[in-house]
Amino acid sequence: MKKIIIAIDGYSSSGKSTMARDLARRIGYVYVDSGAMYRAVTLYAICHGMATAENGVDTAALVKALPDIHISFTPAGSDGIQHTMLNGVDVEREIRDMQVSSLVSPVAVIPEVRHRLTALQQEYGKEKGIVMDGRDIGTTVFPDAEMKVFVNASPEERARRRVKELSAKGENVTYDEVLENIRERDRIDTTRKESPLRKADDAVLLDNDNMTIEQQMDWLLKLYEDRDR
Ligand code: C5P
Repeated sequence: MKKIIIAIDGYSSSGKSTMARDLARRIGYVYVDSGAMYRAVTLYAICHGMATAENGVDTAALVKALPDIHISFTPAGSDGIQHTMLNGVDVEREIRDMQVSSLVSPVAVIPEVRHRLTALQQEYGKEKGIVMDGRDIGTTVFPDAEMKVFVNASPEERARRRVKELSAKGENVTYDEVLENIRERDRIDTTRKESPLRKADDAVLLDNDNMTIEQQMDWLLKLYEDRDR
C-alpha cells in the first residue's frame, strides 16, 4: 500500500499522542511527537534561565540560542516509546513535568521557534509513512497530508486523564492545577497569531470524551483502512 502522511491534531491531553503512537505501531509507520519538540525547546530555555514562572520567556535570548538547540528522537525502546533527545541528552521525563507544561505554550507562540521546528518536522515527513501529532500538523506542517484527524474532549475529562498519567509517574499534582494549565494552554494555542490550533477543513473530527483507548484505536484503524474505498 502506498505510504501516506497522517496528521493528528487536537487539544492538550486529548489522548492524541497515545492514539498516534499506537496507530503508527499497528501499521508500521514512524511516529513523531511534535509537542515533544516544543517541550524540549522549553526545557532548554528553562535550564538556561530564559524562561521562568515569574518573568515568562526571554524571547530575544531564546531566538538567539536556537542554532544551539538540537532535537532528535531515539528509536522506540522496549516500552514502545521513542525518547526525546536534547543536545544528545535523553530528556523524555523532564519535558513532561508541570514546569515545562506551564511554559511551553508561551514558547510555542514565538514565530522563529515555530519556523525552525516546522522545518524539522517536514524533514521527517519526506519519506512519508509517518504519523505526526500536534496542533498545526494538518494546517501548516503537512497541509497536503492524506489523512487528517482532529481530536477533542472536554477540559475536565482531559484534566482527569492527565492527573492519572502524572500521578502514575509519581508527580504530585492536583486536579485544579492541571485543569487550569489545560485551559490556559488551550487559550494560548487557539489565539496565537502563528499557526493557531484549529481543525483543518478536511480533517475528520473525533470527540473522544466517552471512548476507551480501544474504541479510539478501532475508529482510527477503520478510517485508515477505509480512506481509499
Ligand atoms: O502535545 P503537547 O501537549 O505535548 O504539546 C505541548 C505544547 O506544545 C502545546 O500546548 C502547544 O503549545 C505546543 N505545540 C504546538 N504545535 C505543535 C505541537 C505542540 O504549538 N505542533
